[in-house]
This record gives sequence, C-alpha cells and structure tokens, in this order.
Amino acid sequence: TSVFENVQQAPEDPILGVTVAYNKDPSPSKLNLGVGAYRTEEGKPLVLDVVKRAEQQLVAEKSRNKEYQAITGNQQFNKLSARLILGPDSPAIAKNCVATVQALSGTGALRIGAEFLAAHYAKPQIFLPMPTWGNHNKIFPLGGVSQKPYRYYDPKTRGLDYEGMLEDLKAAPDGAVILLHACAHNPTGVDPTEEQWEGIRKVIRSKNQLPFFDCAYQGFASGSLDKDAYAVRSFVADGGECLISQSFAKNMGLYGERVGALNIVCRSAPVASRVDSQLKLVIRPMYSSPPVHGAAIAAAILEDGNLFKNWTVELKGMADRIISMRHQLYDALQERGTPGDWDHVLKQIGMFTFTGLNKSQVEFMTREYHIYMTSDGRISMAGLSSRTVPHLADAMHAAVV
Ligand code: PLP
Repeated sequence: TSVFENVQQAPEDPILGVTVAYNKDPSPSKLNLGVGAYRTEEGKPLVLDVVKRAEQQLVAEKSRNKEYQAITGNQQFNKLSARLILGPDSPAIAKNCVATVQALSGTGALRIGAEFLAAHYAKPQIFLPMPTWGNHNKIFPLGGVSQKPYRYYDPKTRGLDYEGMLEDLKAAPDGAVILLHACAHNPTGVDPTEEQWEGIRKVIRSKNQLPFFDCAYQGFASGSLDKDAYAVRSFVADGGECLISQSFAKNMGLYGERVGALNIVCRSAPVASRVDSQLKLVIRPMYSSPPVHGAAIAAAILEDGNLFKNWTVELKGMADRIISMRHQLYDALQERGTPGDWDHVLKQIGMFTFTGLNKSQVEFMTREYHIYMTSDGRISMAGLSSRTVPHLADAMHAAVV
C-alpha cells in the first residue's frame, strides 16, 4: 500500500471546477461562463496584437538570455507597473516611497502581501468584502493573516450596501487591514461611486486602517486605465499607506504568463527601502525569483509610447465588447418578458454579472441548457457573444418562470 493511502480526494476548485465539468459535456451548444477569461465574438481566446508585437521585438533582441532575474524581478517592469496604477505624476513614486516587486500575477502578489503582513504588521487581520473572489479566503489565512467579512453587496438592490459597509468598517478594529477591489468587484460587478469611495476612505483613514487594494481589472471596467485607477489614486493622494496587488492577466490578456506586481506605498523612502529588503526574504524561499518572459512583454508595452497607445485601444475594445454584451443580454430578457428586474445587468461593471440566480436555477441551466457558471449565479460577460446571448436568455427565462 502507498504511504499516501489515506489521502482524501480534494473537491474541485469552485471556479476552475466549472471548466472541468464543461470540458466533459459533449453537447454542441454548451457554453462556459464560469472562468473570467476574455473571448472574442467567435468565442476564441484573444492574444492582443500589441503582445504579439512586443514578443517579436523580444525575439529580435539578440542580447536576450535566460539568466535568473533579481529576486524582485524585472526592475523596469516594476517601475512602469507602479506608474500605471499610481499615475505618471505620482508624488509617492517621485519620492521613492513605493516598494514594488514583480509577482506571479495577482494571486502571487496577494500571497506575498499576506506573508509580508503576517511577519511585519502589528495587526495581521484582514477584512474581506462579502462576497469576494473565492481565492481571497484561502490566500490570506494560508499566508498567516486571519480574516473577517464586512458587508458589501445587498441582494435586495443588487447594488452596494454602502451603509452596512461603513458600519462594519467603523466597527472593525483600528489598524485592521481592509481588502478593497480597486475596480470591477468580483464576483458582484458592483463598485462604489466616487462619492462613496470618498466616504470609505475617510472611515479607513480615521481608524488608521491599512487598505490592501486588489487591482485585477485596471482598464477592463470602464475601458480607461486612469478611470479604473481612481480609488487607488485617491487613497495614495491623501499621503497614507496602502498595499496594491496588480494583475496583467485580463488587461493584457497575459493569463498564463503570470504577470503581476505587489506595490507597498510607504510614508518615506527609507521605510520603502527596508520593506523592499523584507519582501526579498518572503520571495526567496517561496520561488526564488519570478519568470522572465511575461514581465518583459508587459514592460515592452508599458515603455513604448506607440505600443502603449495601441494597447489602450485594444483594451477599450475588450471593455466595450463586454458592455455591449450587457446591453444585448438585457434586451434579450426584455424581449422574452422575463419576470424580474434586470437593470443590474446594465449597471454592474467589469467582467461579471452577478445575476441573482440561485444555486438550483444555476443547476437547472447547466442540466437543461448546458450553460456553465459558478453556483453563486455569476456569469462572465466576457465569455458571451452575439451568437450565444439568445441561448443564455432562453435559459435564464426558463430558470425564473
Ligand atoms: N483578484 C481578483 C478579484 C480576481 O478576479 C483575480 C482573477 O480572477 C485575481 C485577483 C488574480 O488573478 P491572476 O492571479 O490570474 O492574476
């Protein structure tokens, strides 16, 4: 017998498990709206044109080699990544107050942040919005940071429970870490307004709490990189400290290349420098140093004015297609006279719609219509196309009547 005889079969990941089930389904009309990955109108994965061009440039550079990178990765990428989220004129960057390290996409950045907080922050307890991206609940405890929820989504309005959120932040201990989705909240697609962000910022700062922004969708929500950075920049502009994880999975379509960064904005340059030195001690025993290729692609796009401009156009194209899917789905539900209020399909922002469909309605749609989504009723708008909207609307209609 094996020494691992007693190992139990683990459950599938709730999000990635949807794709496993989808792959097993032989139906030709099957539709996967589980995973948040962008698809074209033809339902195909998209490699951005600027990514192809950046890769061609990299191949042409004869001096490139496969040497190890520094522990904190590609320094040029780190600099440009911080500038992308904080803005070109950021005083925090100008004063060297930001420690930035390359990370294994957004997930890796969150994990490094958690381990750093567990080792160096007096109150390693994080408050997470309810609901939140499922992986947050695992990353933080495993990284040594205990977690608690705060109210965020109101199922009645399918919008933000602003009052509840402020109450919970006020009730949270001084100094607690507060996780905030920088834009395009996953899974709900519900973001605070600029006015509400202002109220949230005031409470967090008045209690000396530490914001940890998860920024996985910059540019994907509104189509504008600057607009989607609003919340983060408003928190950095007040001079306070924060952490920001960044992912280039969605906005550059670099999913499997695992390109991201963790930024820690500090009060002073000497603190940032010491923080940077400690981040190396987190990374070195975990994976030693990050991979070369993806960050080199991202850096090439971020540093070349022409590629950057073309990237913003392609990014806006993806965001606009998602917004157009919202309108098409909404119209299709109206045409069918589907009972209920579906305004939230239009109002929510980013990759996902939190439909409000319950677990048994989701199961019905999977069983009868071969449509796959997470059991909380979240659908990826980026996985839809004009061709598949009617099928989805038929299924939603049948599920609620
Ligand atoms: N944070 C949120 C809210 C996300 O939705 C995702 C991806 O789905 C991530 C972080 C991290 O993704 P990745 O590790 O692929 O960058």
